[in-house]
Amino acid sequence: MSDKTVSNVDLTSLNVAKFGGTSVANFASMQNCANIIKNNSNTRVVVVSASAGVTNLLVDIAHTAMSKDQIKQKLTEIKAIQYAILNDLETPENVADKLEQLLTSLADLALHEEINHRADLKDALLSHGERMSSLLFSQVLQQIGVSAENFDVRNVLKTDSQFGKATPDLEAIKQNAEQLMLPSLTSTVFVTQGFIGSDAQGVTTTLGRGGSDFTAALIAEALGASTCEIWTDVIGVYTTDPRITSAARPLPELSFEEAAEMATFGAKVLHPATMEPALRQDIKVFVGSSREPEKGGTWIVRDCETEPAYRAITRRKEQVMVTVKTPKMMYAQGFLQKVFTIIAKHKLSVDLVTTSEISVAFTLDNPANSVVEQLNRATLDELREFCEVLVEDNYDLVTVVGNNMHSEAGVSNRIFNAVAEYNLRMICYGANPHNLSLLVSAQASSDVVCSLHKALFE
Ligand code: ADP
Ligand code: ASP
Ligand code: MG
Repeated sequence: MSDKTVSNVDLTSLNVAKFGGTSVANFASMQNCANIIKNNSNTRVVVVSASAGVTNLLVDIAHTAMSKDQIKQKLTEIKAIQYAILNDLETPENVADKLEQLLTSLADLALHEEINHRADLKDALLSHGERMSSLLFSQVLQQIGVSAENFDVRNVLKTDSQFGKATPDLEAIKQNAEQLMLPSLTSTVFVTQGFIGSDAQGVTTTLGRGGSDFTAALIAEALGASTCEIWTDVIGVYTTDPRITSAARPLPELSFEEAAEMATFGAKVLHPATMEPALRQDIKVFVGSSREPEKGGTWIVRDCETEPAYRAITRRKEQVMVTVKTPKMMYAQGFLQKVFTIIAKHKLSVDLVTTSEISVAFTLDNPANSVVEQLNRATLDELREFCEVLVEDNYDLVTVVGNNMHSEAGVSNRIFNAVAEYNLRMICYGANPHNLSLLVSAQASSDVVCSLHKALFE
């Protein structure tokens, strides 16, 4: 169905609104969100994250070996967050039974013997955060007079079976959204879950941390929506993370590419994949604060009114740098291929690469030191059979993002002057004209961001 007119009601201005964890953390925050929805009749699908803190607690249970008592303690904390919301509802009895059922199935999974060892069980466990928050939020909406229904996104959001970081099946999502969601949207606002999906067998999957933004964009794409709103705890996308410097300021507009680049290089405000559906379907994305909607926010669009040389600075933490060196490289054909074949075989994903005559250096994400452990276990021995390998961790990647950096003279001068006193371990620019990345020690990265921000934006 490509015609978006259903039951004579025009859905051509359809808006999908996503509310993050802090926005649905408690009853008062949920009320702010409910008013935002009520004030825009184009908002027909609402995607919510788990209430703030809940996914972290679930991740603890899934990934850490704990005693039964410790698990029960975590479950009590989760229950307290959700019950605080339930008890503030005018008619808690409408959803109390369903919430209890979810808490029971959650406890069963949490206490399952294999919870730390089976990826499918972990995803089933994690899905409870969003399932509980969406259930409660649909009631908050009903309470202020919006005809709202809790919708299980797993019926629409089909993925492969890569638990923990599933890849969406765009065809199936579109077909399901058109069949199961679109016909009801003229009369009902669907309140659904971000972050979760299901594979072809119907088994629950998740899209990776922060994945609710991605869910919202995928559903917006599938329904042919014209806008997608990401409501969070900041009044838009800033020149840099406002937690690093209070001098950061919100940007009125950004291009799809710049936003994608920022997300990829560490701006947590958007999940890195969020821009893919938006770009494909030209869906305008808005980022704003659910606590202060009157302050406006950032519009992410295909063509911006202004096109400055650079737009923002990002930081991606927990990086590791690997240097592979062989005196024979000058003569050895296929050296790079050999190195990267081994890296690929071990399913490691390389980000930045620089080469010299006899060596190649590259960076990898190293969350919680997991990649360094993996390197040490298997990959290094294979590499050391034909070259010297040096692994250095405790780095952060600081990136200046902008669509027009390559076309303005003097930009690199300004950047390098600003960071003259810091030790830059690696510099990457050129292959992609939209960013310039600097690898610096984790200890120095906040200062590097502040220094750059001062030189470029203040
Ligand atoms: P939510 O739970 O709503 O998805 P997140 O915590 O995932 O919210 O994302 C919002 C946070 O992203 C902000 O509180 C801010 O600290 C961080 N952030 C990082 N970079 C930026 C940036 N460039 N602009 C705005 N926020 C940013
Ligand atoms: N609840 C999930 C997380 O905390 C997904 C999200 O909030 O986007 O990662
Ligand atoms: Mg987020």
